[in-house]
Amino acid sequence: MQPSGLLHLGNYYGALQNWVTLQEEYDCFYFIADWHSLTTLYQDPRQIKNFTFEVAVDWLSSGIDPEKSTIFVQSQIPEHAELHLILSMVVPVPWLERNPTYKEKQQEIKSVDMSSYGFLGYPILQTADIVLYNADLVPVGIDQAPHLELSREIVRRFNGLYKKDVFIEPEAKISSIPKLNGLDGRKMSKSYNNAIFLSDTEKEVTKKVKSMLTDPQRGRRTDPGDPDVCNLFPFHKLYSPKEMQDEIDRDCRTAAIGCGDCKMKLVDTMLEGMGPHMEKRREISARPKEVQEILVEGTARARKVAQKTLAKAKKAMKFQT
Ligand code: SF4
Repeated sequence: MQPSGLLHLGNYYGALQNWVTLQEEYDCFYFIADWHSLTTLYQDPRQIKNFTFEVAVDWLSSGIDPEKSTIFVQSQIPEHAELHLILSMVVPVPWLERNPTYKEKQQEIKSVDMSSYGFLGYPILQTADIVLYNADLVPVGIDQAPHLELSREIVRRFNGLYKKDVFIEPEAKISSIPKLNGLDGRKMSKSYNNAIFLSDTEKEVTKKVKSMLTDPQRGRRTDPGDPDVCNLFPFHKLYSPKEMQDEIDRDCRTAAIGCGDCKMKLVDTMLEGMGPHMEKRREISARPKEVQEILVEGTARARKVAQKTLAKAKKAMKFQT
């Protein structure tokens, strides 16, 4: 996860919640991808340090357990950069240029010049991130599957060139992600300024829910609405009890309930649902030294694995060994 901003509910339901479950079944490596954040924050990298801390706090508050999973900071393990460089020698540029998100993101992010070499090459760094830990599975959403395909191609190319199965071809572990848009109905994103953050206070959550776009066809209180197209209803599905969801679904369609009341019901259930995280977050962020120690310990554990894999790769290449 990139520390390019505070984590929001989209990050939680899109990844973090699943990560917490996976650690019960798998030997998981989760890292804060601060080098990747430089692709968008290279003009002001000072913020990345603070976001790294905040991401770690959100992980721990959500239930990522350093006893069960290895959690670390990417830039503290130089083997990521070294393997990125080595892999970049064997990857043809057209492979990177055809990456569908390369052009998409360049068009989407207007505030930063995204024409850097680092941004073009980020799938190579991503591949290094994965293969250093001999990862056989990578938890991704369906939209990220093409990235993983590129990593698999890079692995095949490297192993084929040096005639040794150094790296494992990672498989995607696709998780179904509940549809959750931001306040304005677009994808929840810090760059759209439409996110509810895991670090928001009760007051901020209330204000944001009140400002949320609902069914755009429901111009007046007396117009019936449609929860199936309403931007707010998916939040009820996540936070409100089933009876309340059914009641709102029925009353919205007959205009028996107004959006203002519906929002207030959501505020109550959301604050109750987010309460334990908020509480835990306050406790953990009050102990920054402990958070730091967890990251240092995880990083040391991860680095041993990374060093071993990199040595194996250089040996296969017969390069300076
Ligand atoms: S009443 Fe609730 S579900 Fe219906 S349109 Fe308004 S906010 Fe959406």
